[in-house]
Amino acid sequence: QNLSERDKAVIWHPFTQMQTAPLPIPIVRANGSVLYDADGREYLDMVASWWVNLHGHAHPYIAQRVSEQLQVLEHVIFAGFTHQPAVELAERLLALLPANQSKVFYSDNGSTAVEVALKMAFQYWHNLGAPRYKVIALEGAYHGDTFGAMAVSGRSAFTAPFMPFLFDVEYLPTPIAGQEDAVLDQAKKLFTNEVAAFIVEPLVQGSGGMVMYEPGVLNDLFSLARQHGTLVIADEVMTGFGRTGKLFASDHLREKPDLMCLSKGLTGGTMALGVTTCTQVIYDAFLSGDKSKTLFHGHSFTANPIACTTALASMDLLLSAETQASIQRISESHAAFVQRLRTYSTVDNIRQLGTLLAFDLTAGGQTSYFNSIRDQAYTFLLDRGVLMRPLGNVLYMMPPYCTTDEQLQYAYAQVEKLLASL
Ligand code: PMP
Repeated sequence: QNLSERDKAVIWHPFTQMQTAPLPIPIVRANGSVLYDADGREYLDMVASWWVNLHGHAHPYIAQRVSEQLQVLEHVIFAGFTHQPAVELAERLLALLPANQSKVFYSDNGSTAVEVALKMAFQYWHNLGAPRYKVIALEGAYHGDTFGAMAVSGRSAFTAPFMPFLFDVEYLPTPIAGQEDAVLDQAKKLFTNEVAAFIVEPLVQGSGGMVMYEPGVLNDLFSLARQHGTLVIADEVMTGFGRTGKLFASDHLREKPDLMCLSKGLTGGTMALGVTTCTQVIYDAFLSGDKSKTLFHGHSFTANPIACTTALASMDLLLSAETQASIQRISESHAAFVQRLRTYSTVDNIRQLGTLLAFDLTAGGQTSYFNSIRDQAYTFLLDRGVLMRPLGNVLYMMPPYCTTDEQLQYAYAQVEKLLASL
C-alpha cells in the first residue's frame, strides 16, 4: 500500500486515467507465469506482461546469460563499432525470417521499429530520386505511440489530440471473413504508383481488438502492392516469435514483406529492443558514394549488448523442443476452450490463432473502447488472480509459453465464471 501511495505521488503511468483501480498494484517478484504482489497475492499473467514475456518471468537461463554479458560489455556506441551479441542476433534472426530479408537495423521498442521502417520506405524513394509520400494502412491498425507510428495507425480517441501533426494515410477496411472481395476491390483503386508503402499487422490486428483475418486476402494485397512497386511493411511486433503458432505470422503467407518490424517477444520480455529488417534492394538504395543517402536514424541505445543477449537467450529457449511443444499444447488447449465458449450467449466472434485467443463480450451491447464491461471484466478476473486486460469489449488471452495446463485451466474457469456473471 505504501509503495502504491508513493508511486501515485510521483509517477505518471501509461493510461493512468483509464485504469479501473485507483492505485497501481506493487509487484515484488515474479516467476514463470505468476506475479506476486506485496501482500503475497498471486496473479496469473495471461497477457504475458503486455505481450512480451514468452518464457515466464525471471527465467534462470536468461538471467545467467544477462549476468555473464554484464561482466563483459554492457554498452558501446553502435555507430562505427560492433559486438558479438549484435552480430550473432542479426545472423540468427535472418536465418529464421523470410529469405528475402537481408539486413537488420536495431532500435528500442515496437514504435521505433515501425518509425524506422517508415523512414526507410520514404527515404528509399527519395534516394531513388522518385519520391513517394503515400501510405496505405488498415483501419483499426495500431502501430505504436510515436508520431509516425500514430499516423499509420487507425484514427481513434488515441490519436484525436494529435490530428494536425499526423500525415495523411489512405485506409482499407480490415479484410475480415466475408469482407475480402470488397476490400480487394477498394484496394485496386487505392494502390497506384504513388504509394510508397503498405503497412499491416499480418493476420492479427492486436491493439485494435485482436481482429483476425485470413492469409489468402493478405497475399492478394501484398501482390497488388508489388504490382505498383509499393514496399510492404509487416508489423510483427505482436505476432512474432511463435504467437500465431508459427515463428512469424509472415510464415503463414505465400507473399513476403519487404520490411519487417519486431519487438516485444524478441527478448522474451526481459529487455527493450526493436528490430527493423529489410531486403537487399532497399539497403542498396542507401549505399553509394553520396553520404547524404545515409539512413538518418540512430538511437543512443541501438543494439545494446545486454538487450541483444537477452534476445539470443530467448531465441535458444523459443527454438527448444520443449517450448515448441508448449506452443502446440497451448494452441490445442485454446481450441478446446473455444468449444466451451460457444455455449455462452454473452460472447461473440470467438477467434483463435495459435496461442492467441480472443472473443467479444456482448453483454449490454457495449462495444466502445471505454465501456463498463471492460472495467467489470478486468476487476472480476484480477480479484480471482488472473491478469487479463480487455481491449474495449474484447477479452483475450496471450499466455507465456511456460504456462502449465493447470494454470490455463484455472484461467479458463475464471473466464467462465465471468461469462456466467454477466
Ligand atoms: N506494433 C504493434 C503491432 C503493437 O502491438 C505494438 C504495441 N502494442 C507496437 C507496434 C508498439 O510497440 P511498443 O509499445 O513497444 O512501442
